[in-house]
Amino acid sequence: MEKIFLLLFGIKKMGDLSKHFSRYEFRCKCGCGKDTIDAETLKLCELIREFVGKPISPSSGYRCETHNRHVHGSKNSQHLYGRAVDLPVRNPKSVFEMLCEIYPDKFGVGLYQSFVHVDTRKAARWKVI
Ligand SMILES: [Zn+2]
Ligand SMILES: [Zn+2]
Repeated sequence: MEKIFLLLFGIKKMGDLSKHFSRYEFRCKCGCGKDTIDAETLKLCELIREFVGKPISPSSGYRCETHNRHVHGSKNSQHLYGRAVDLPVRNPKSVFEMLCEIYPDKFGVGLYQSFVHVDTRKAARWKVI
């Protein structure tokens, strides 16, 4: 019995969506309860998690239209479709460069002062620093 409990606890600690991420981390920050996140975006989160070697958690995942307006997101933001995350990391530039190297012509990757934005659109690169 105790063994089963520990096993379940272990799985929960690891994230209920993937190895390191749980669904609640991607929920819209306005409190509307929506938490859609695309499987490929999640894979990118895992890749970045492996790369930095430390726990990370999205500062922004899914955004409903109201919340996206509130945070002045772009009108066609990939966050609206559950295909984007902003991941605060210690060295955003190194993550940005790693993604550009692995995926030279795939995905949306944006470099910011304290985080990287990744999404699963065809290809886009930008820097806001
Ligand atoms: Zn919302
Ligand atoms: Zn973003």
